[in-house]
Amino acid sequence: MTDHIDTRLAHAGAAEFYRAEAPVNVPVVRTSTVRFADVEAYEAAHARRLAGENVATYGRHGLDTHRALEQAILTLEGGRRCVLAPSGLAAISLTFLALLSPGDHVVVSDSVYAPVRKLHRQMLDRLGIDVSYFAAQRDDIEAMIRPNTRLLYVESPGSLLFEVLDLPRLAAIARSHGLLLAADNTWASGYLQQPLALGADVSVLASTKYLCGHSDVMQGAVVAGNEAVAERIVQASDALGTAVGADDAYLTLRGMRTLAVRLAQHQRNALSVAEFLQGHAEVAQVFYPALASDPGHALWQRDFSGANGLLSFEFHRFDLARAHAFVNALRLFGIGASWGGYESLALLAPPERITAQHAWRGSRPVVRLHIGLESAADLVQDLQQAFRHACEN
Ligand SMILES: *Cc1c(COP(=O)(O)O)cnc(C)c1O
Repeated sequence: MTDHIDTRLAHAGAAEFYRAEAPVNVPVVRTSTVRFADVEAYEAAHARRLAGENVATYGRHGLDTHRALEQAILTLEGGRRCVLAPSGLAAISLTFLALLSPGDHVVVSDSVYAPVRKLHRQMLDRLGIDVSYFAAQRDDIEAMIRPNTRLLYVESPGSLLFEVLDLPRLAAIARSHGLLLAADNTWASGYLQQPLALGADVSVLASTKYLCGHSDVMQGAVVAGNEAVAERIVQASDALGTAVGADDAYLTLRGMRTLAVRLAQHQRNALSVAEFLQGHAEVAQVFYPALASDPGHALWQRDFSGANGLLSFEFHRFDLARAHAFVNALRLFGIGASWGGYESLALLAPPERITAQHAWRGSRPVVRLHIGLESAADLVQDLQQAFRHACEN
């Protein structure tokens, strides 16, 4: 009997259950349904998943491509379990929702990625979870810890001003008060610093940035340092249904193959630009932990193996209008949010975000630059002409 063409179409080219050879790259396994050879295999897989094993019984859990990416991220971060998320912010939300319950309190560094405050106002408030912010670079956080404090959530270096935190010290405080410590490790991309090795329980990544590295994927990851935390993260991810597409998982894994060489070039270029800016008459201060003049330099030297392409600077005399003229005059820098791709970007820091950070002592506009993989000399020339243009107009 020959099946109808519709039937053959539905079954043609079905993947084999086993293969004797393998390509260099992990295949992009796109699927919603996971198909089992028999009922016993289906039930066994479900049982293994229930027991906590990283086994897929449905496409939402991801298959081979996802497992390979999770392994690659664990290789960097050194954790027990990696859970992928559809964006960096989703990875942050997942962490908060997994580790906090109504009536709990969380202490957060005031230098965090700004949308964390949105998560606080639009979600945590409603769930009855209290949030307090501590001044990054200050270590008087013990006074903020309450009987219901459960989590210390930090980002080092911070967003916009790149305040470096003393993570081992914060980990010791967290431990002595029975709190979990979660750190946003996007700046270091798992490569330049390992928060879990420094005492954190959770490391959060926006793989949208350097892991992917090509500005074509939105993705995040939560890495748990121990089984107990991993179980809570996995359960939250299961309950919320935060899935990642196989193509995006593949692209991130592909990006990660060149992470080391890209970061080295980002750092080299950013250091050249930072040094140029430091010597410029229209620049008041440069925020880049790899500069000896940066307040976080000593901690950065102790806990990080390098820097990336992100830096900010405050103008010396420019008002907002001249700052706009400066950014608009840039030719090689795109104007836009995010960073971590191969290309240079410029963004005028929103004044209300900067003033929410304790470390801010300035009064002039701040520009954040992402220094890409272009020639550093070309980037410096572009900045030079933008300064000249803004001064003349
Ligand atoms: C960009 C970023 C995020 C959010 O990542 P998305 O993928 O854009 O949601 C989180 N933390 C830090 C430090 C970031 O820079």
